[in-house]
Amino acid sequence: MGRKVVSACFAGIHCRYDQKHSLVEAIQELVKKGEAIPICPEQLGGLSTPRNPAEIVGGNGEDVLDGKARVIDNQGNDVTEAFIRGAYEALKIAQTVGAKQAILKEKSPSCGTCYIYDGTFQGKKQPGMGVTAALFRRHGIQVFSEETGWPKGQEKNKDGMNQ
Ligand code: SF4
Repeated sequence: MGRKVVSACFAGIHCRYDQKHSLVEAIQELVKKGEAIPICPEQLGGLSTPRNPAEIVGGNGEDVLDGKARVIDNQGNDVTEAFIRGAYEALKIAQTVGAKQAILKEKSPSCGTCYIYDGTFQGKKQPGMGVTAALFRRHGIQVFSEETGWPKGQEKNKDGMNQ
């Protein structure tokens, strides 16, 4: 299936806004075997860890890329440019390693694949992609998540998700 890129927090890396990880052992296993490269678009965009949680306000990741929506943190700071910069750096890594598929973390304003938070900071979800997921899809990289599962490859999936 070729090499994948995956959200780094899946691999046990403490890159989340709260400096925690979102370990999924089956995905970490891909990284251990060299079948996936971990990337964190928000760190690649220059944001610190820990950092304020952020949500897309006024749309989704597509809209952010088109200049129609912004990414705002919970203190009201506009972090749109860092999110876009991080998405392009993540894309550069994916293209450099020839990745055609990505497994990304749902609900993140960067990595969300099927849905994201709605911009009200009240824990409400809405359908849509994060900024990096949207950029990947525009550049022909197939995007999956921990909830969708991913296509069969050589990997053994211990969590019973699609292989
Ligand atoms: Fe994980 Fe993506 Fe958030 Fe980084 S930006 S912590 S990889 S969900």
